[in-house]
Amino acid sequence: MRVDVVTIFPEYLAPLELSLIGKARTSGTLELAVHDLRQWTHDVHRTVDDTPYGGGPGMVMRPEPWGQALDALAGPDTHLIVPSPAGAPFTQATARALAEDEHLMFACGRYEGIDQRVFDHAAARMRVSEVSLGDYVLFGGEVAVLVVLEAVTRLLPGVLGNANSLLDESHADGVLEAPMYTKPPSWRGLDVPEILRSGDHGRIARWRREQALERTAARRPDLIAALERSRPEREAS
Ligand code: SAM
Repeated sequence: MRVDVVTIFPEYLAPLELSLIGKARTSGTLELAVHDLRQWTHDVHRTVDDTPYGGGPGMVMRPEPWGQALDALAGPDTHLIVPSPAGAPFTQATARALAEDEHLMFACGRYEGIDQRVFDHAAARMRVSEVSLGDYVLFGGEVAVLVVLEAVTRLLPGVLGNANSLLDESHADGVLEAPMYTKPPSWRGLDVPEILRSGDHGRIARWRREQALERTAARRPDLIAALERSRPEREAS
């Protein structure tokens, strides 16, 4: 997968050198480049923003540098991802869909965001998706890019040592994962549930499923409701 990130703070994306994303880059699974938007400015101050039409506080990112960045980096197979609090909520299903793309390009907004015409113009040439991390407002899109890229990269074939890790984790099948334990068997007076030490894989699998459902019902009843709604469809298929 190829990924281009455009930002006015390339240093913010330094963690993309680390850990499993760094490894995926070294192995060639992920071909990732971070670009400074200001390279597509042409004035002495390298200006990327201006006051909003219609008035109001803050500044808006001008369309010209973004247009040139897209001209330089995007093609018809590009999926332009725009982090925005006004976007569709980013979920594991979104991550799975993005992991199928050949080329992702991220446009990191700052200030009050990017001039809308950038996306209206791009939408005639490529897929454009606005994605939100949640119902709150960040300073800029960089942190959102880190989140989206972590979730997407770990789904790329070969990135996780054990691909089974992807099968029974939270949100893989609409519920949260059961609680996990490791050694020692007893710690500060708290014991690992006996069943997990029984060696009976059938009972362990059933226990984990029950725990997953109980946990989900207690913490995220919305997920249980979504599961109920999708059941007739799954039974029909
Ligand atoms: N004026 C915008 C609004 O009210 O929708 C908020 C702009 S915010 C201060 C600046 C940038 O941060 C946005 O362009 C976006 O890239 C990023 N951002 C802020 N909150 C976000 C969120 N919840 N999810 C994804 N990106 C976000």
